[in-house]
Amino acid sequence: MINSIPDTTIHKDLRINSYGHYLRRRFGCRVSKVNVDAGFTCPNRDGSKGTGGCIYCNNVSFSPRGTLSEIGLEEQLTTGMAYHRHRLGSQKFIVYFQKYTNTYAAVEQLEELYSRALALPDVLGISVGTRPDCLTDEALDLLTRIAKERYVCLELGLQSADDAILKRINRGHSLGDFLNAVQRATGRGFDICGHLIHGFPGEQPAEFLKSADLLNSLPGISSVKLHQLHAVEGTELAAMYRRGEFIPLTLEQYVATAADFLERLAPRISVQRLYGSSPLEIRVAPQWGLKNNQMWYAVLNELKRRDSRQGARYEE
Ligand code: SF4
Repeated sequence: MINSIPDTTIHKDLRINSYGHYLRRRFGCRVSKVNVDAGFTCPNRDGSKGTGGCIYCNNVSFSPRGTLSEIGLEEQLTTGMAYHRHRLGSQKFIVYFQKYTNTYAAVEQLEELYSRALALPDVLGISVGTRPDCLTDEALDLLTRIAKERYVCLELGLQSADDAILKRINRGHSLGDFLNAVQRATGRGFDICGHLIHGFPGEQPAEFLKSADLLNSLPGISSVKLHQLHAVEGTELAAMYRRGEFIPLTLEQYVATAADFLERLAPRISVQRLYGSSPLEIRVAPQWGLKNNQMWYAVLNELKRRDSRQGARYEE
């Protein structure tokens, strides 16, 4: 059933509830996310949850020391904010603790790192990417305290809602872990973003699309990031591709399923990302030859071609 009720959160040209516009509505100016490598590692590599990491994770880029990155946090952020100011005219910033598992440390260390980011001028808040099985009560309480005064988004990697796929890709956590983390994080005054990937070996589009229904059913989820599975050098997935065990989606397949996903996604959930990118020098497959904004618009143009929008097939 096509849901034709207009929703004010949907941008009329983009036809989705884009996160960029959500931030503009909320803060009244252009806001950019600025990445920082705070030197975390990952429990799915060091043996505490698993070894080897997820099959698509670029293990060669992991710091063997598992300590703070070479360039200090403040220097990384100052450079990143200057770039966004100059290139996009951004006025305010959200510091994105992106690399690896950004709650994987003692709460005192987390507090110190998050506080340093929040102390920089024009920083509105933080976005913290992590695994759903790496979220202690102390870390949740810390984010809750910060969210009383500043913007906080917790980004939880689910990647697939299918436990068999999670096992095959060596994620080291289950759908149940994700649901448990979302439930514990809901109602604490901060945003929660779910990460999904489409294109795992053996995954059917119809199965993947059920993950939109899953996110819709979780009131705490406020945004989503979606990207295609892609293989980069130094990963098990790249080896699988070379052995013929991973056949990447075509651009047309991905765009069609991403548009289907958006049509099923509730309008209240903002969309942070619709594609994944990696440096050309380590990209193995797929090679679609598109720049980032072309990937973004490939999906949005498919909605336009259909004269559709996010939530067009969402049923409450
Ligand atoms: S959880 Fe993230 S950082 Fe850890 S191995 Fe998987 S993709 Fe890499």
